[in-house]
Amino acid sequence: MNLKGRGKNIAGTTLTHAGRKATYGRYRLILLTGAFLIILVNPFVNYYLHQNFIQGWYQSLGIGKLWFVSPLEGIESLLISKSLYMPSLVGMLIPLLLAMLLGRVFCSWLCPVTFMLEIFDRIRKFLSGRRYLFNGLVVAKRVLWFTLIAELVLSMVLGAPLFVFLSPPGLIGREIMMLVFFKTVAFEGGILLLILFLELLTRRFFCRSFCPLGGFLAFVGQKRKLLVGYEEDNCTGCGRCDLVCPMGLAPRSADREGGYCWNCGECLDNCQEEALFFHWKGQQAGKVIRK
Ligand code: SF4
Ligand code: SF4
Repeated sequence: MNLKGRGKNIAGTTLTHAGRKATYGRYRLILLTGAFLIILVNPFVNYYLHQNFIQGWYQSLGIGKLWFVSPLEGIESLLISKSLYMPSLVGMLIPLLLAMLLGRVFCSWLCPVTFMLEIFDRIRKFLSGRRYLFNGLVVAKRVLWFTLIAELVLSMVLGAPLFVFLSPPGLIGREIMMLVFFKTVAFEGGILLLILFLELLTRRFFCRSFCPLGGFLAFVGQKRKLLVGYEEDNCTGCGRCDLVCPMGLAPRSADREGGYCWNCGECLDNCQEEALFFHWKGQQAGKVIRK
């Protein structure tokens, strides 16, 4: 069955409505907005109110006595400095556990790049009237692993933590901080414009294959506990799930349980037959047989 072909036909005719209740989409947007507001508002609070309860952004974020360190930047720094820095290791623990349990959910539910792209999606839909964006430029999924390896090797060869300086999720927080504290922005911020441009070609093009942090979290989350399940008896084969997956996956295939799925829930929201659902590994509870 040629799902891509089916999807294109359907998209032109019946797939123009919003799908099921879009519950996960709503929750996700709320969480993405909240996470973005933290790094947007906090520099003003630090600078103008001199309140430092929250400090930093999503590369290194301090909330009171809790300290979170982005695992890739943490590992990169450890590899280059060749020394174990205990606070950094402890800071990486919660993000690593989250990825082991839920997969790459930082990317889909918290990352400021995803927030930016979700808003971009909405503006694009409003202006073009097109709900779905076809994948204009597709690269092999495994490029994600090469990106991760290349980034780590290059950092070690150059002896500089590249991703600490150039990480797009980190760049957003750092640019806001620089603007508030130094009234300027860094030229690396241009990377974000490139990501927006690529988004016009293929949805989440950068996240799919070129984000080293995404690659690292996908690798850690390969054996995650939270999975997308599929109840074939409910499925009508409409192909909507394939169209909406921002990672370009086929949620009815084994793709949904692999490292590339970031558990965003878009395929669940858009399956009107409840053929797709979240479940914990080893449990199929929660599925609804409709036939
Ligand atoms: S899983 Fe749902 S959205 Fe996907 S083809 Fe089947 S009925 Fe359609
Ligand atoms: S398979 Fe579903 S949950 Fe996974 S990335 Fe695609 S749309 Fe999101």
